[in-house]
Amino acid sequence: MKQMNIAYAVKDGLYLNLTNRCPCACTFCIRNEGDGVYGSSPLWLEHEPDFEEVKAALVAADYKKYKEIIFCGYGEPTEALDVLLETARFIKETSDAKVRLNTNGLANLIHQKDVTPLFKGLLDAVSISLNTSKADVYLNTCRPRFKEEAFPALLEFARLVKNHVPSVTMTTVSTTITHEDEDACQKICDELGVKYRIREFN
Ligand code: SF4
Repeated sequence: MKQMNIAYAVKDGLYLNLTNRCPCACTFCIRNEGDGVYGSSPLWLEHEPDFEEVKAALVAADYKKYKEIIFCGYGEPTEALDVLLETARFIKETSDAKVRLNTNGLANLIHQKDVTPLFKGLLDAVSISLNTSKADVYLNTCRPRFKEEAFPALLEFARLVKNHVPSVTMTTVSTTITHEDEDACQKICDELGVKYRIREFN
């Protein structure tokens, strides 16, 4: 039986891994690194946890001691939207931790409706992977199953979610795109009224 690693700590943050599902197949994703990684990684969930399992993992990890709890993981957290919302509500009701969602920004396409109002009062921050300012580069790099619909949808998601969540940031990864592309990403974020952050490559 494979190990289930729903909650894992990194510094002051506790990361939650809710699902393996994702509508993308990014060329840089660890999910592409072969069967060994897929099959043996402790982050590969043997089944998708329900809320009670996530709650048990939070309690076992002593979640109240963390400053921030982050929905992240091996897949796209909003694929497991109901569990995500129930978990965020539980954390908010029982601790002082800030709650952040790391996402590819495609939740509204996944669910075929605007889900951003559901995050109100439950998330303190959303971090969206922008990856590039160029729609064609995005399509070839992230390979979303929604094809050309995806890039405009993630920009729209950023614009909408900032009405419901206090801190919205879009990110790219340093050294993966040109400085010119980074400048264009900054411009996109300025126009959307969200923050832009270049994450370290690791
Ligand atoms: S969006 Fe994230 S989980 Fe999905 S394929 Fe890309 S890197 Fe992997």
